Amino acid sequence: MEDPQGIETSFQIVNRVAAQDGSISKYILETPGQKGTFELGTFTSEGTFDICVSTMAGCPLQCQFCAIPYSEIPYERKLSAGELHEQVSLAFQNRGEIENVVVGFMGNGEPFLNFDAVVDASSRILNDPSLSISSLNISTTGVRPERISELANTDFGRSGRGKIQFSLLSLDPAIRNKFIPKVKSLEECLPHLDYFAATTGQPVKYNVMLVDGLNDSIEHAKELAKFIQAAPHLRRIKVSTFNPFPGIEMKPATAEKFESFIAHLESQGVDVKVFKGDADEKVLASCGQMRARVGRILTQ
Ligand code: SF4
Repeated sequence: MEDPQGIETSFQIVNRVAAQDGSISKYILETPGQKGTFELGTFTSEGTFDICVSTMAGCPLQCQFCAIPYSEIPYERKLSAGELHEQVSLAFQNRGEIENVVVGFMGNGEPFLNFDAVVDASSRILNDPSLSISSLNISTTGVRPERISELANTDFGRSGRGKIQFSLLSLDPAIRNKFIPKVKSLEECLPHLDYFAATTGQPVKYNVMLVDGLNDSIEHAKELAKFIQAAPHLRRIKVSTFNPFPGIEMKPATAEKFESFIAHLESQGVDVKVFKGDADEKVLASCGQMRARVGRILTQ
């Protein structure tokens, strides 16, 4: 199968869209003979080429800010290590002149529910001489915390390029549990997250997506600053915009609140990574959005 840029893969490319300015590309992929579709995204920003890889076709979890649970498309299956590796190879060819390539298992699926394939794929990607990547990031909601410690002692942890991101959303357990149900609490995950960071020398990045009226207050920023500053060598923070989609009531934090939140963290000496993704809704680039829409069209 060839995509519009003439790249050969064993995937069938069901659809591909790209922002007019070339900063975002998104693929819907399926493997012949296998069930389900899955998304692959790339984001170019400030000299970095981010590759967002799916680990599952669909997802059995029910995160309330994610398009997948709303999509009417069922969870189909775990992807194989080869399918993960191949997504990176496909996207890598589109990096152009950019040398700083960052890969994330952050697309459809919870990587720790497909742990063996993720460990295997990590080794393949990090040891593939045709792929020169700066870092490989695995994002988790915290379903299997003990496996975060396990990961520290695999090729991923030993490489010096393997990093963990944790979906925090809020330090308030009630808010976190409501919006990321059926996962372990921060309290249960934290020893493993700190262990990973201490063992590998790679601080864990805590992801907070700012939602209007939910977690965008200055009080929340103050608590977050204290949490990071309690172990600054082990913990970092990433603040993202929330990209809404049809059928969801949550709204993104206003631009003013977003900026104030960042400003407060920085005023406390916290180094903040800001990620806006597809905030301008160029190509439905947030997790699950394109699969939800295209998948629905295909199944009609
Ligand atoms: S955010 Fe990730 S883990 Fe949660 S439902 Fe969406 S794909 Fe699954």
